Amino acid sequence: MLELKDVRKSYRMGSENVEALRGVTLKIQEGDFVAIMGPSGSGKSTLMHVLGLLDTPTSGSYKIRDREVAHYTEDELAILRRQTVGFIFQQFHLLPRLTAVENVALPLLYSRGTLEVLPAAQRLAQVALQDRIKHRPNELSGGQQQRVAIARSLVNEPLILLADEPTGNLDSVSEAEILRILKELNQQGMTLLVVTHEEDVGAMAKRRIRMKDGQIVSDERLAPVEKNISLPIETQAARGAPFLSDLTEHFRQGFKTLAGNKIRSLLSMLGILIGVAAVVVMLALGKGAQQMIEKQLSSLGSNLLVLRSGASRMGGVSAEATTRLDLDDAVTVEKQITGIREVSPVVAGRAQVARGDKNWSTQLLGVLPSYARMHSVEPEVGRFITSEENQSRSLVAVLGVRVVQEIFGSENPLGQFVKINRVNFQVVGLLPEKGASSFRDQDDLVLVPLNTAMKRLLGKQNVDYIDIEATDASVLDQAQDSILKLMLSRHRVPLSQGQDAFSIRNMADIQNALAESSKTMSLLLAAIAAISLLVGGIGIMNIMLVSVTERTREIGLRKAVGARKKDILSQFLAESILVSSVGGVLGVLLAWAVTFVISWSLGWTTSISLSSVIGSFLFSATIGILFGSYPAKKASELNPIDALRSE
Ligand code: ADP
Ligand code: MG
Repeated sequence: MLELKDVRKSYRMGSENVEALRGVTLKIQEGDFVAIMGPSGSGKSTLMHVLGLLDTPTSGSYKIRDREVAHYTEDELAILRRQTVGFIFQQFHLLPRLTAVENVALPLLYSRGTLEVLPAAQRLAQVALQDRIKHRPNELSGGQQQRVAIARSLVNEPLILLADEPTGNLDSVSEAEILRILKELNQQGMTLLVVTHEEDVGAMAKRRIRMKDGQIVSDERLAPVEKNISLPIETQAARGAPFLSDLTEHFRQGFKTLAGNKIRSLLSMLGILIGVAAVVVMLALGKGAQQMIEKQLSSLGSNLLVLRSGASRMGGVSAEATTRLDLDDAVTVEKQITGIREVSPVVAGRAQVARGDKNWSTQLLGVLPSYARMHSVEPEVGRFITSEENQSRSLVAVLGVRVVQEIFGSENPLGQFVKINRVNFQVVGLLPEKGASSFRDQDDLVLVPLNTAMKRLLGKQNVDYIDIEATDASVLDQAQDSILKLMLSRHRVPLSQGQDAFSIRNMADIQNALAESSKTMSLLLAAIAAISLLVGGIGIMNIMLVSVTERTREIGLRKAVGARKKDILSQFLAESILVSSVGGVLGVLLAWAVTFVISWSLGWTTSISLSSVIGSFLFSATIGILFGSYPAKKASELNPIDALRSE
């Protein structure tokens, strides 16, 4: 059934070659019970590993049922391994986090795609452990652990059982029990190969082989092999489990592993979690700011032009004098330019508002009645400034909400008097609340009639700017040109200096510029956040690498019981995808909480967009795949026996 011909195996130890097997030729018959004996270092384990397909010989031929093993690919070997051999190790090699029954079922995960409990439980009953199926290895004695390992080696119904000093780590009572089980298995027809130091174990066997220095020195038949009881073996190459059940099983396993190591899973999640939260929050804040700016700008109306003197940019004092805007400019624009609906000249300054012992410094604007409609600030309480009041330079004021709070508290300010720059004014109205914008508090403001401000408060001859409203957005460009020409001629500015003398700004331009800059801003924020995601991904890779190194033995065992390269790969990938997606989901939740707190405590507008949530989630899963695949690949490429030997 098994046939070795002149098999050699040598290991490189630095510059030296260690010859562990020096030409072993051996045939194993079906139903036999072979004991392999010999001093330590004689090559017994090496021979077992070659026979068990856990290691490949350096030279020579190994045939299983007349098929040359060397011709198999790595994955075919994995399949052949799980169909042909059950291996029992001296160190048991049970997975500590799985229960007894799960350990026994582990080979089924790779041969059938699921951890089937029923056949595993039957095998445990066969080694008299039916009442220990839910126990973990550390809750079992050494003898019981080895019985679990025997049950595991049987679960795939192999052709042959290979046991490398199965009782080497056990007391004599457990040893007797294990030997009884092995003998019973042989009587039922199982082919058995046992490495042992004990002469009485050797005497129990049907055939006894002695080795020395990598060679067979004696081979005795102690008892005849009964008529061949041929066990059925699957001959079809690969019985691959259906892909989907494979996948869900990997995720279930991954989940178990992660749940079994909560602190580490949490730590490796942390990077992704913070990264995703950062991205979503940044985008939400950026989007919120954008929405707020748009809202504020749209309340200004998009047909608005703002005419200012460009004097500051011209430098010279004389030039400044000629380009200063006055009330006549405003009147002329309104009269002479076609397509103009209304103009609103404004003077601006600082004002000290006082009443009793209250004192507040704020912005003062001198305006005409047209200001109210153009800026949508018609008072809901009281009224706005009238033309008559402007004509007569009346001492009346309209206050912003903030000023009212500071000066009046909860008192009703209507009809009351306040001192503005030491002059007594009567409050006739309150401005509607606008809220704080990102630039300034729009409620911290006092409005008085234009003439009052110019002549009685600020002592100005000129206005600071003129808001001009067009009837229609389509006439804006043309109106802009005509206004500029009109101003140049009125102020006798030569055309050569015309560009700098006045500035006329279009609200639509300002809007676009602001929208553009807030977009750039949020992109920048997102880019910074994306870097933190990347760092999170690197964190995952680190943890996965550590986990692979730490679990090298587990990988060795999984491969020894028939896991293919891609099974190991999928398992580790599933774990890293799980870590990063769970981290991603938690990150989105965190982002939601953070934006909620921000908008609740600071009153900022925030807006979490679905695309940022989906995007960052996909991103974190991709990072899981990208950064998980390197360690996963590394793990899957390990040779089973090298992996098992690692500490
Ligand atoms: P036994 O099981 O009979 O004690 P082994 O098969 O384990 O012997 O080892 C046979 C020889 O091969 C020994 O000299 C051992 O040092 C050497 N050997 C075994 N495994 C390795 C390895 N992975 N690297 C280097 N030398 C090894
Ligand atoms: Mg050994």
